[in-house]
Amino acid sequence: MSYDFDLFVIGAGSGGVRAARFAASFGAHVAVAESRYLGGTCVNVGCVPKKLMVYAAHFQDDFKLSRSFGWDVEAKGFDWATLIRNKNTEIERLNGIYEKLLINSGVNLLNGHAKLVDAHTVDVDGQQYTAEHILVAVGGWPQVPDIPGREHVTDSNQVFFLKEQPKRVLVIGGGYIAVEFASVFNGLGSETQLAYRGELFLRGFDQDVREHLHQELLKTDMTLRFNCDVKCIDKQEDGSLNVTFKDGQSTAVDCVFYATGRRPMLDNLGLENVNIKLNEQGFIAVDELYQTSESSILAIGDVTGRVQLTPVALAEGMAVARRLFRNEDYRPVDYDLIPTAVFSLPNIATVGLSEEQARADGFSVQVFKSSFRPMKLSLSDQQERIFMKLVVDQATDRVLGCHMVGPDAGELMQGIAVALKAGATKQIFDDTIGIHPTAAEEFVTMRTPSA
Ligand code: NDP
Repeated sequence: MSYDFDLFVIGAGSGGVRAARFAASFGAHVAVAESRYLGGTCVNVGCVPKKLMVYAAHFQDDFKLSRSFGWDVEAKGFDWATLIRNKNTEIERLNGIYEKLLINSGVNLLNGHAKLVDAHTVDVDGQQYTAEHILVAVGGWPQVPDIPGREHVTDSNQVFFLKEQPKRVLVIGGGYIAVEFASVFNGLGSETQLAYRGELFLRGFDQDVREHLHQELLKTDMTLRFNCDVKCIDKQEDGSLNVTFKDGQSTAVDCVFYATGRRPMLDNLGLENVNIKLNEQGFIAVDELYQTSESSILAIGDVTGRVQLTPVALAEGMAVARRLFRNEDYRPVDYDLIPTAVFSLPNIATVGLSEEQARADGFSVQVFKSSFRPMKLSLSDQQERIFMKLVVDQATDRVLGCHMVGPDAGELMQGIAVALKAGATKQIFDDTIGIHPTAAEEFVTMRTPSA
């Protein structure tokens, strides 16, 4: 049986583009279909524009701090339209780069909505293509609960294109996106509230990290509401939104931004035409080779709901391309010790186990912690503190987890992740000479375990 393509990729996001490009470079005949934007969530409505907005938000602190070093700086104001316009220009540039990457590697790029017709056939806006393998890499989509007034909310796709900066904003959620955007809005000068339904945001992160971020955010102008759930949202005549909470309290804002998780983007994908099973959470179920229950169809990235992080999707795309077309180089993705950062202000970064998880897994742990005011603030009255923590297995001395809240935490944690992957013990941390003066050296000078 001959097919139009060896591999047909649905979705040109991080994972899909990586798989398509490398499969083509290994000699496969590849097509990728994309109906929205090249680069997917990460490039268009995720990591990249978010990080640009986080940079923008941090200037407020930088301007203030610069005065303690003698700079005569007065921030006259912030122009949202300029930020969004420049951000859009940069994203368009990246879209172009993605297009070139695909075309230069010999991938057939099809602009249109792809729908599965059968186990080997895809329809793109009325044109059918056959392929030996089909890779579903369609990603996710913001999920907003069904509350009265849902139509008035802004989701994590729309937030990147708001025409005006909201003067008053209520952020709902307690995950990555909620704390990041609460920091962005607050830094840019919006009157910001963050409401989370639980006791404390960032469930699953180390408790000390969560509490440290909480303390840091209390030092800002942000209002934090915990154990707080929205009952309904009513639009007022002046365009503002009145939000009523389940405990009877209410607040008036200009924007209600929902960041309550993401669902797999399965709409109109033609799943009814094939035998693809979903897992209990509604994501596409795959085995360790990313094979769905339809043997010719694979799936990677956010649509599988495993680890919703761009670098993971990239690794999965690479693994699929290698296994199908360069099997001698195949390496399974190692899901152990995946480092991650939350670009709240201050940043969080972490790799390995939280103290709670390590104890729950049966480890007898020793914990090393440090909290200190960064040297950069020493000439100012700014009170932000850095937090660092090591979770160590007493039996083997291996460092099980490393956590930080503070400037550039992600930059620092990447190197520590390499050390942890290499099996670093606390003794190796202790034997490592610090780089002075940095905040990072604290990680190799913590000697006294906490009680
Ligand atoms: P998360 O899964 O991180 O967080 C969702 C939050 O919404 C949780 O606090 C959850 O509460 C809350 N929530 C869920 N349902 C409801 C509801 N019905 N009502 C009220 N609150 C609700 O999702 P995000 O949307 O923040 O981000 C999606 C994913 O994208 C992340 O998990 C992450 O993998 C990825 N991402 C990564 C980033 C990075 O690497 N820096 C940045 C942004 C996103 P509870 O905890 O109680 O369940």
